Amino acid sequence: MSSLLITDVALVDGKEPTHIYVEDGSVQELGRKVDADHTIDGRGCAALPGLVNAHTHAAMVLLRGYGDDMVLQDWLAKRIWPAEANLTGDDIYWGTRLACLEMVRTGTTAFADMYFFGPRMADAAHDAGLRAVISEGFIDLGDEERREANIMATEATTRHIRQMGDPRVVPSVGPHAIYTVSPAGWEWVKDYSSDEDLLVHTHLAETEREVIDCHSEHGTSPPGLLERFGVLERPMLAAHCVHLSDEDVALMGQRGVAAVHNPVSNMKLAVAGVMPWSDLAGAGAHPVLGTDGAASNNSLDMFETMKSAALLQKLGGDPTSLPAREVLEAATHGGAQALGLPGGRIAQGEAADIILVNMEIIGMIPAHDLASNLVYAGAGHAVTATICDGNVLMEGGVIPDETEVLGRGLQVAMDLVSRG
Ligand SMILES: [Zn+2]
Repeated sequence: MSSLLITDVALVDGKEPTHIYVEDGSVQELGRKVDADHTIDGRGCAALPGLVNAHTHAAMVLLRGYGDDMVLQDWLAKRIWPAEANLTGDDIYWGTRLACLEMVRTGTTAFADMYFFGPRMADAAHDAGLRAVISEGFIDLGDEERREANIMATEATTRHIRQMGDPRVVPSVGPHAIYTVSPAGWEWVKDYSSDEDLLVHTHLAETEREVIDCHSEHGTSPPGLLERFGVLERPMLAAHCVHLSDEDVALMGQRGVAAVHNPVSNMKLAVAGVMPWSDLAGAGAHPVLGTDGAASNNSLDMFETMKSAALLQKLGGDPTSLPAREVLEAATHGGAQALGLPGGRIAQGEAADIILVNMEIIGMIPAHDLASNLVYAGAGHAVTATICDGNVLMEGGVIPDETEVLGRGLQVAMDLVSRG
């Protein structure tokens, strides 16, 4: 494997610019200028661990802007579901490639994806060179035939990913939510995820309606229901976690759940609440960050999500809530841990998932405090280089297959809505 040297680059909280030497996919040395096969001049840039998007539906980029400012049920029933009913495997492949292109461009090196045609999602992540946790969306709506079909699709996705043999792409199980998956479906999810040692990726307590319905149908809260099914004992990515009681927070803390905050999606879909970040963290849960799909965001830029998360937490009245360094930690190391993947630190022996951010462009100077600039003044367009597992996916803002992926992505998006 080839070696890489990044020279004269600033580290958050580092005193002087330094050099990063990478070989075999990991950081071998910091501080010394070592001869390497390839050198990137890092002057004027900050190096950050690659950002981790802990909850998205990547191929939904195909439906970006296809129905905004609508009531959630109308939006789903009139726009999203009819379009999704027409999705093909090729749509998913090129949609996911298009999403990966945006992630590479804006500094995301790993993502947790839940959507359909899992094997094609995995192929796209593999071809893009990113790390990904792939889950086939599991929605049985209490129907036994649908459940069997979902089980087969999930098993096929796991098999496909394992046969692919790309250590950057791993399978997970994707039960959509407590209101779309039956108790029998959850039982299967629990057993399968423990037999196959897989992460469970779901949506949890996104709206008040979900909580009210859960109490009237099951006599408990959404987290209480998952505890009843035994699912909270599994490593879990729970997206949203907006409407939680004190008991729910304590339970999720006790179970060490990774709670994925999706601030932009929550505001856009008006879920009328804010994930209780510091309460969850205080209880022992792991708050991390996601964009959600591009139909409800409409961007996959994690810089925008970092800033939105910090601001949304402060809206409660405490300006010391979720400071910049904690946001950066959650978007890098915290996210990697939650996904069960390497990455998240720039240090000797750590995976070389590194992004370079230009700190000398309009809107970024002066940099009195790098962490503050990155979170509050940063944006994905300031990323100049993206490196994942030691492979340079973008350098000088250039991604080799950008033109092809943009073209194919646009083509399948237009074709998809014309069929609807
Ligand atoms: Zn989602």
